[in-house]
Amino acid sequence: MKGILRKCVKCGRYTLKQDKCPYCGSKVVVPHPPKFSPEDKYRKYRYLAKKIAGIIPE
Ligand SMILES: [Zn+2]
Repeated sequence: MKGILRKCVKCGRYTLKQDKCPYCGSKVVVPHPPKFSPEDKYRKYRYLAKKIAGIIPE
């Protein structure tokens, strides 16, 4: 699961796209979550992934 999510540098949205933001077309980077424990981080990522999977049509 690590490294799948990207975050847009412009609008700050999370995306599963690896190349660019599907919302504004800007560059996306691997987000660096501040000071979460591994469990919390993965839980948050899974939550975000589910949320995004429901939003993005592909
Ligand atoms: Zn964007």
